[in-house]
Amino acid sequence: MSDEYSLVRRMAWPESASRPVGTPIQPSVVYASPDPDTLDAQYEGRLSGYTYAREGHPNADVLARKIDLLEGARGGIVLGSGMAAVTAVLMGLTRAGDHVLGGDQLYGRSLRLMREDLPRFGVATSLADPTDADAFLAAIRPETKLILLEVVSNPTLRVADIEAIVAGAKARRVLVVVDNTFTTPRGFRPFDHGADVVVHSVTKILAGHSDATLGYVAAKDAAHRKAIYDFSVTVGFTPSPFDCWLAERGLYSFELRYDRAEANARALAEHIAGLPGVVRVLYPTRPDHPDHNRAVALLGARGGHMVSFEVEGGRAAANRLTQAAPNIAFAPTLGDIGTTISHPASSSHRALGAEGRAALGISEGFFRVSVGIEDIDLLKREFEAAIRAATA
Ligand SMILES: *Cc1c(COP(=O)(O)O)cnc(C)c1O
Repeated sequence: MSDEYSLVRRMAWPESASRPVGTPIQPSVVYASPDPDTLDAQYEGRLSGYTYAREGHPNADVLARKIDLLEGARGGIVLGSGMAAVTAVLMGLTRAGDHVLGGDQLYGRSLRLMREDLPRFGVATSLADPTDADAFLAAIRPETKLILLEVVSNPTLRVADIEAIVAGAKARRVLVVVDNTFTTPRGFRPFDHGADVVVHSVTKILAGHSDATLGYVAAKDAAHRKAIYDFSVTVGFTPSPFDCWLAERGLYSFELRYDRAEANARALAEHIAGLPGVVRVLYPTRPDHPDHNRAVALLGARGGHMVSFEVEGGRAAANRLTQAAPNIAFAPTLGDIGTTISHPASSSHRALGAEGRAALGISEGFFRVSVGIEDIDLLKREFEAAIRAATA
């Protein structure tokens, strides 16, 4: 190779006396150290620095420190997806012979991890209803290592009795892991309520633009953090620097987006509840919500950005509803800056079968809405028209 072409690789980043205001993206997979002593110092923690991106990189760390700040956490880790975070906790903190207890309305893939995968490695799992603390605590076994909870469930937005469950779990020396994706640190901070580990799907409203898939995990105890980190590095749950950069950019406006989406959700729930053809509306802080008192005690006025509702007319009405609202993305996600609507019976909860869904109260006319930041009058008009078309 000629000198010029060799120098193309070796040429350094330009010097600048001024600093960039935006966060730079650092896609480098490897980092060169000056000498073996320095590398030793880095591995032993006497010097900070990066070596290989699967073990950590600046864009992941910048994002992690910012989510730490919001969650009141220290040493959080950003991973390649929300499911990477859930998996890193469940597999990093358990061994064969342990038992894991989960809420019975966890995120679909978390349920699948518990039902299909952990048992293959000798970790027993079971589920219980976290809105009933006595029943939930009664499902703890002598070999239960940890419990996995979501504060507000998907899609029926039931509110877990987290205070009583944390107290009972502590008494039994069982770790409490909270998936805080739905509530977000703006609605609920699990560490303030005694949680040992917090996980997030950053993909959702923290990043907020449906263009980055990421997860986050923080553990209170340094040994737990290390176990989760080491497992993640080994199995390669590395996040993309570009995704981290996008998510950090999203995070700057998270507070504004969340507050607006929540105010919209509250108003939209109120509006939908008064429309003909609507069987019920679920929103945690509404007086007719089954866990209203607990929701108010735990979340105050923070009902969140999710609303669920049910219309008359089954699947045919459901088809008409999404067709009549072409500008509201019918998509199996949540937390986007724009409103999205999902139909659990045909997506997240299809594997449960009609009977399993009926037990949770999910009919063919049941929809879950992730409310965005649009003008509320526009949203009211669009939903009113769609519900009218569906149920006429
Ligand atoms: C989406 C979601 C996950 C999984 O996150 P991904 O980033 O899609 O892997 C986990 N828990 C909850 C509550 C979620 O909504």
